[in-house]
Amino acid sequence: MPAKVGNWDAEVDLLVFGSGAGGMTAALVGALEGLTVKVCEKAPRIGGTTATSGGAIWIVGSSHAREAGADDTIDEGRRYLQHELGEHYREDLAEAFLESGPTAIDYLAQRSDVLFELMPIPDYHSDAPGGTISGRVLSPLPFDGRELGADFEKLQPPMRRLMILGGMMVNRGEIPLLIQPFSALKNFKLAIRLLARHFLDRLRYSRGTRLLIGNALTGRLFLSLKRQGVDVQTEASLEALIIEDRRIIGAATRTSSGVKRIHARRGVILATGGPAHDFPYLQQALPDFPHEHTLAFGGNTGDGHRAAQAAGALIDNDVTNPAIWTPASIHREKDGHLTVFPYGYLDRGKPGAIAIDSKGRRFVNEANSYHDVVVSLYANARRLNRDHRRAYLVTDSAFLWKYGIGIIPPRSRFMDRWVRAGYLVKGNTIEELANAINVDPAALQDTVKRHNTFCTEGKDPDYGKGDTAFNRFNGDPQVTPNPCLAPIDKAPFYALPIHPASLGMSLGLKTDGNARVLNADGVPISGLYAVGNEMASMMRGHCPAGGITLGPAIVFAYRAALHAAATH
Ligand SMILES: Cc1cc2nc3c(=O)[nH]c(=O)nc-3n(C[C@H](O)[C@H](O)[C@H](O)COP(=O)(O)OP(=O)(O)OC[C@H]3O[C@@H](n4cnc5c(N)ncnc54)[C@H](O)[C@@H]3O)c2cc1C
Repeated sequence: MPAKVGNWDAEVDLLVFGSGAGGMTAALVGALEGLTVKVCEKAPRIGGTTATSGGAIWIVGSSHAREAGADDTIDEGRRYLQHELGEHYREDLAEAFLESGPTAIDYLAQRSDVLFELMPIPDYHSDAPGGTISGRVLSPLPFDGRELGADFEKLQPPMRRLMILGGMMVNRGEIPLLIQPFSALKNFKLAIRLLARHFLDRLRYSRGTRLLIGNALTGRLFLSLKRQGVDVQTEASLEALIIEDRRIIGAATRTSSGVKRIHARRGVILATGGPAHDFPYLQQALPDFPHEHTLAFGGNTGDGHRAAQAAGALIDNDVTNPAIWTPASIHREKDGHLTVFPYGYLDRGKPGAIAIDSKGRRFVNEANSYHDVVVSLYANARRLNRDHRRAYLVTDSAFLWKYGIGIIPPRSRFMDRWVRAGYLVKGNTIEELANAINVDPAALQDTVKRHNTFCTEGKDPDYGKGDTAFNRFNGDPQVTPNPCLAPIDKAPFYALPIHPASLGMSLGLKTDGNARVLNADGVPISGLYAVGNEMASMMRGHCPAGGITLGPAIVFAYRAALHAAATH
C-alpha cells in the first residue's frame, strides 16, 4: 500500500533509491542541474551490482569512438539494434538511447569525475547487419580510491574471488604478465609497482585502492556526488511511495532511526536493481527459466517493483529473456559463503574446453557470449526434456594449467583439493570422467574425439567456434590456426559443473523514453521514474554486446534526471 501524505521528515527535489550506476547517475545529473538530491541505499555500502561488475558500457557514436576514427554511425547502431531485437525492438526507447548516449557520456566527462575510455571489444554478433568489431564499448578509467578519503570504506568491494592478495584488483591484460613476473623485465616492473602500492594501501585501508572496471565506476560516481554535496544515506530502504492526486510526491524510507517520510518535489527515481533475488516471485513468473543463482547484488529483492506496482505501475515481461544470463560455477567457501562465479572471466573461449550436456554432447559454441551460452543451455535442456542443471565444461590438465577455470587461477597446483571440495570432477581417462559425472562414456569419448579432429584444420563445423570476431577476441592469439580450438588430450581430465545464473533482470517496470514509469493504460505515473535494472530493459532480453545494461542504465538515468529537472 502507498503510504499516507504529510508529516514530512525531510524535503528534496529529487529522491533516488539505490546507489548503483542507475541511481548514482540520476542523482549526479539532478544535482548538476541544480536540484537538491538525496540518495537512499538499503545496504550498508554503496554501489550494488555495479560495484562488482565489469563496468563496460555500450554507447553508439561516442566522442571517444569518433576521436579514435571508428567506422560507425548512429544509423548503423540503429540497424544493429533492429536486427538483434527483432519483434521486440521498441522504437521510442531505442531512439532515446541512441540520441542521448553520446551526449550523456560527454556531459559526465565535462562536469564530473565520471570518465571513460574506449575498449577494442567487438559486438557479440559483429557479423550481423550494423554490427561492429570495435567502437561501442567504453570502460571507466581506473580510479584512485584514496580520493574518497575515509569514505572509501563505504564502497562495495568487487567479488572476493576477483581480487588477489586480500583485496588487489588487476585487469585482464595484467594477469598474464603477473603470473610470470620473472619472464620479462616489464612483467617484473609491473609486479613490483602494483605490489608496492598494494602493500602501502593495506597499511591504511581494508583493501587495495587502485580501482578498476565496475568498482572504478562506482568510485567515480560516488566522488562526483560528494563533490556536488549530495546526501547519500546507507541503510535507508524504500518502504512505500507516497501518492497525492495520482502523483508520486515522496516516499516512506526505513532507516536505523525509524521510518522517515521524505517529500520529493520533482520526483522519485527507483534504481533499486530489480528482483533478481526474489526467487519465489521469479519461480512463479518465469517457469520456463528455472534458475537458483544470481550474481546480482543481494539487496536487489524487487522492492522497487512492489512499491511501484502498489502505485499502479505495469511490469513489462514481454521480453525474449527475462534476464541477462551467464553460465556460473558454484563454490561453498570455508566460511560458509556461497560463491557464484561467472564462467568466462579468463577462460571464456580459450582453446581446449567444451560445454557438454547430460548426454555427453556439445550444445553450443563455447566462445559465444555468456548470455548466448545460457540461452542455448535452456533450449537444449527443453529439447531433450532434461534437467537444465546437468551441464559441464570438460577440459584437460594442460588447459587448467595455462588458463585456469572458474575460480581456479592459471598455474594452480594441487587440483585435487578442488576435486575434494566438490568444485571440479576429475577422471584419469575420458571414460572415467564420464562415469564420474554420470554421462554415457561412449558419447563423451566420441564428442571429445570429434572436437579434437577439428583442431588441426581450425574449423568447428558443428558450432563455428572461433568464426566470429568476438570468439577470437576471447581466444588465445598464440594458438593457431584457430585461437579458440585446441585438443583435449592431456590427462587427467576435468569437468566443471555449470549452472544458469542471472547477471540482472531484463523484465522490469515499463517506462517511456524518459524513464517515466507507465501505468496499465500506458500513461506515465507523474513523479515516478525507473532506471537501471528496475526499468524493463530496452534490449528486451537480448544481449547484443558487452555493456548493454550499464550503458542504458546511465543514459536513461541521465534522461530521467533532465526530465525531472525540467518539470515544475
Ligand atoms: C559479475 C558481473 C559483471 C557484469 N558486467 C557488466 C558489464 O561489464 N557491463 C554491463 O553493462 N553490465 C554488467 N553487468 C550487469 C550490471 O552490473 C547491472 O545490470 C547493473 O549494475 C545494474 O545497475 P543498477 O543501478 O540497476 O543496480 P545495482 O547496481 O544493483 O544497484 C541497485 C542498488 O539498489 C539497492 N536497493 C535495493 N532495494 C532497495 C531499497 N528498497 N531501498 C534502497 N536501495 C535499495 C541495492 O542494495 C543496490 O545497491 C554485470 C553483472 C555482474 C553480476
